[in-house]
Amino acid sequence: MEKIKMITPLVEMDGDEMTRIIWKMIKDILLTPYIDLKTEYYDLGLEHRNETNDKVTFDSAEATKKYGVAVKCATITPNADRMTEYNLKEMWKSPNGTIRAILDGTVFRTPIIVKGITPFIPTWTKPITIARHAYGDVYKNTEMQVPEGSKCELVMTDKDGNETRSLIHEFSGSAGIIQGLHNIDKSIGSFARSCFNFALDTKQDLWFATKDTISKKYDHRFKDIFNEIFESEYKEKFDAAGIEYFYTLIDDAVARVVRSEGGYIWACKNYDGDVMSDMVATAYGSLAMMTSVLVSPDGVYEYEAAHGTVQRHYYKHLKGEKTSTNSVATLFAWTGALRKRGEMDNTPDLCAFADKLEAATIKTIEDGIMTGDLALLSSLPNKKKVDTEEFLLAINERLKEML
Ligand code: NAP
Ligand code: MG
Repeated sequence: MEKIKMITPLVEMDGDEMTRIIWKMIKDILLTPYIDLKTEYYDLGLEHRNETNDKVTFDSAEATKKYGVAVKCATITPNADRMTEYNLKEMWKSPNGTIRAILDGTVFRTPIIVKGITPFIPTWTKPITIARHAYGDVYKNTEMQVPEGSKCELVMTDKDGNETRSLIHEFSGSAGIIQGLHNIDKSIGSFARSCFNFALDTKQDLWFATKDTISKKYDHRFKDIFNEIFESEYKEKFDAAGIEYFYTLIDDAVARVVRSEGGYIWACKNYDGDVMSDMVATAYGSLAMMTSVLVSPDGVYEYEAAHGTVQRHYYKHLKGEKTSTNSVATLFAWTGALRKRGEMDNTPDLCAFADKLEAATIKTIEDGIMTGDLALLSSLPNKKKVDTEEFLLAINERLKEML
């Protein structure tokens, strides 16, 4: 069989620990035998980030802007332990944070659903994709403890020096606490556009919810910006695609989500997204089955797994022990990126390959061959736990039959 050709390179961001091992296995076993893989390679492994003073992370994000599609391996976010372990010059920032800031993107997380693993909410037969606004609110807050007898006000000084004041609370009778939050129209607008684009891209309805009845200026601003952008830029496209934009209150949204069958995108304010993404991921079963894509408002895509570098498995691997690490989310990061590259370059062979590789992966698990994390969850009677490499080889057997 002749290898599938690529026109534009994918931006490839290599990473750390067990996921770096899996990365190479995926390429060797499932990609390079079939595709004339064209990538622009950036090594985001912690050692190389340290050597380049983290320049490589910035360069990889700029390359993503240039080419439009990237695939990223999980990476270590340094903490005090990692400083000594890797003898770091500095506590480099999270690469995901750096890349997200440069691309001004929104993260969409989607569970991969397979037969035999029933979500804790059994009516969720289709995936729920969560989009989390990644700027502001409580994550960039200013807060104070307030002694009894204090008076607290919001003071806004405009560019001409005029002050507007609004009483928060007079703390007579008890001490207390206050908190100042902010967001900016530009960031909310980018978030909205990323969500509308992703909904069109995946042909799914978009839900958005805030508490605008209580927060009549703050949350209401989110509702208004979404609505204005939808009406002026997206309504016709949504009609043409047969999809809907649905706004409701956050508590109503939560109730509807639980009763739903899935199959839509749920856009969340920063805090709601933080909380709900953990709830949704847990309910679907496993973080190792959760894919993640960062989408910029101008349509740049960076695909990755939602989980980390699986450190505990890596230390076993270093001792020469076999691990049973789930490669599905990392593999789906590759298929997502290859399919998007194929769509942008108009190379249907590449898209079809990505579809088949995903189908082969799901078939493998539904045939009962899976890694240990899934074997614990699966209700299939004939399930068999395999190691990291055996799992990829089993996918390859099925892929060959499909090609
Ligand atoms: P983790 O890599 O997400 O793994 C936590 C635990 O979840 C594992 O020990 C394992 O449980 C299970 N698990 C996660 N992914 C799995 C997979 N693919 N297959 C099987 N089991 C899986 O989190 P961590 O070990 O706490 O963090 C390691 C590093 O990842 C940290 O340095 C952190 O900074 C980084 N991180 C990176 C990203 C990213 O790049 N996007 C995201 C999160 C964390 P068992 O041990 O019980 O088998
Ligand atoms: Mg969280």
